[in-house]
Amino acid sequence: MNYFKYLNLIILLFVFTFYGCSNSTENKPKDQVVQKQSLFAIKNVNIIPMTIENNLIENATVVIENKKILSINESIPNGAKIIDGTSKWLIPGLIDMHVHTNADLNFRENTPTQGATFFMDTQDVMTTYIVNGVTTIFELGGRVEHFAQRNEITKGKVIGPRMAIAPMINGGDPNNGGRTVNTASDARQAVRSIKAEGYNFVKAYSSLNMESFQAVVDEAQKQGLKVVGHIPDAFKGKTEKAFIPNFGLVAHAEEFSKQIRNQPKTKKEAQYFAQLSKENNTWLTPNLIAIVKIRDQVQSLDSIASMESLKYVHPLLQDKWLHSNNYHKHSSPEFINYLDSLIVFHKEMVVAFREAGVPMVAGTDAGVSGVVTGFALHDELELLVDAGLTNEEALISATRLPSEWLKINEIVGTIEVGKYADLLLLDANPLENIQNTRKISGVFANGTWVDRNKIDKMLSELAHWNTSMKEKYKWKNRRKY
Ligand SMILES: [Zn+2]
Repeated sequence: MNYFKYLNLIILLFVFTFYGCSNSTENKPKDQVVQKQSLFAIKNVNIIPMTIENNLIENATVVIENKKILSINESIPNGAKIIDGTSKWLIPGLIDMHVHTNADLNFRENTPTQGATFFMDTQDVMTTYIVNGVTTIFELGGRVEHFAQRNEITKGKVIGPRMAIAPMINGGDPNNGGRTVNTASDARQAVRSIKAEGYNFVKAYSSLNMESFQAVVDEAQKQGLKVVGHIPDAFKGKTEKAFIPNFGLVAHAEEFSKQIRNQPKTKKEAQYFAQLSKENNTWLTPNLIAIVKIRDQVQSLDSIASMESLKYVHPLLQDKWLHSNNYHKHSSPEFINYLDSLIVFHKEMVVAFREAGVPMVAGTDAGVSGVVTGFALHDELELLVDAGLTNEEALISATRLPSEWLKINEIVGTIEVGKYADLLLLDANPLENIQNTRKISGVFANGTWVDRNKIDKMLSELAHWNTSMKEKYKWKNRRKY
């Protein structure tokens, strides 16, 4: 069947070419910067700390000083900006464990003095995360431009999430670009290069052969890097051979379904995959939303056109999603049936992995056509609950557990004294209804307070700029940029 090959091609095109896009900085307001105020007190708030015990703390006072949680239920220092938390709920900032963030790129060819030719406004790229309470992202198509974005955030020039960054290693045709390895020794060298370039993670991709994949995972362990990835196609029929120590996280439930593409996909297969993962201590990012969005746009592009969040997407990508949509181009009843079967099976997998005790983390594949950064994480949480997680388990999958996998649980992931103030203030209790994570009253991102007014202003400015630039950015003209 061609779908699979085709999907891969899309993903490759996506990874290599198009998750950069850009804004020029013309007419950009300069006020979206980290504020000077560094002392805050949230009063009368209900805290859902997301610690292992997760005991609710009602009507609490939380003091934030110099980006960190200074105290809970102690006195309020002079000079604190007071935030009224009455009838509101405080949860840790959310973590999206699978994103592809737009960044500067080159649609043409490098010249001796020019790399990127197409630039984007980093704040615009990060706004959709922050206004949705996504305060940490795991970038799974990491490249040097993402380091540049991270520096802008760290320097306080941009309000954005913490960024964990994993660059990709793939196999196959070296002319495909990127880090392509087809032998174990090349695989090991690629991992050492990744380490030398300053990355902490490696993403293994679909076209690696068996020996190269195993060498990537093994060398990464020697170098102290964690591996997230696809399960390469080469493992079909012997999936268990991919489950070796240090293969830490499978990036989509779909990786498993691709292994049994033309075979039955029942509870039995789901349980087998859960067992493989459990025995190897490999976690799963189910990534339910991407397949749902793909299915919808294969059926009809109205699903894209009618998206409320589309206006927050860069106009170049809006144009691509609507007028050069490769998923929709290959629409057929068989393709839709196949995607429907995946949607059913992936829910089954969430149940099986939960029963087996395999930790699952929330991730969206945002950046893929129809999956909007920031907004999509709330969709994913709903789908996880729909699949069978409790509201609390869904929240755990987007807070404490990802912080543990990324090894940043000492600084974020729960609400505790001494941790950084990555916080989401909600108008309603998400333990009662997971949709309440969308009712955002304000966000603390690394101690910077973004209240509802500011969120609305950031969103309207972004939508306004994107809309005003629609005629300027057309996908068919991208090589000219
Ligand atoms: Zn992805």
